[in-house]
Amino acid sequence: MSDRTRSPGGIQPTATTRRRCPPPYDPKLPWRALRWNGDGSPVRWDSTNPIRWAFNADAYPKPRQAQLVREAMTMLAGTTGFVISETDPVVAEPDEWLRSSDVKAAEVLVSLANIDLQNHSGKAAGTAAADAIELRPGVHVYRLADIRLRASVLTLGVALHEAMHALGLGHVGSRSEIMYWGGTAQAGFGRGDLAGLQAVSRPIEPPATSSPNR
Ligand SMILES: [Zn+2]
Repeated sequence: MSDRTRSPGGIQPTATTRRRCPPPYDPKLPWRALRWNGDGSPVRWDSTNPIRWAFNADAYPKPRQAQLVREAMTMLAGTTGFVISETDPVVAEPDEWLRSSDVKAAEVLVSLANIDLQNHSGKAAGTAAADAIELRPGVHVYRLADIRLRASVLTLGVALHEAMHALGLGHVGSRSEIMYWGGTAQAGFGRGDLAGLQAVSRPIEPPATSSPNR
């Protein structure tokens, strides 16, 4: 895809979902999806499969940072009903993670960057991108995600925010949500966060004309 560009020497947007939509956001919108299917449903993960996540062995966190990420993943598993499980660290090049079609030992790669992450609005505490495939015409499902966290400013709120991007949520305009575009110091879900998590964890609807052989 044309927006999957990469320039040497810097972390660049690698997928549609890394693009940061600038404010303002409609304050009445409690939550937003990163991407929508043609039928108006949010693009999301297939809830019938576990989501395995792994730390990037090349950008491994300190114990306290690792604990924050684990806490965030546990909160998200409990809230969504997704099976979200940690697997052994993997050695990976983050810029290649979403691009490669290699069979992977995890769906989500978590890297603790020691450099300043750059995005369209300057320095970021973290970035996240998710890659979707077309399950059937008009319906996409996420298959891989890449989360990068700036080690020096990692909080539970930041870990939650980026992991929620990886689950398919976008930014909102309300400061009472974890998905507030400007980042948040809070570490508890807002009402919109909960509604969004509920929406992206719903099962993928079966095709309208289902075959008995499937
Ligand atoms: Zn964000």
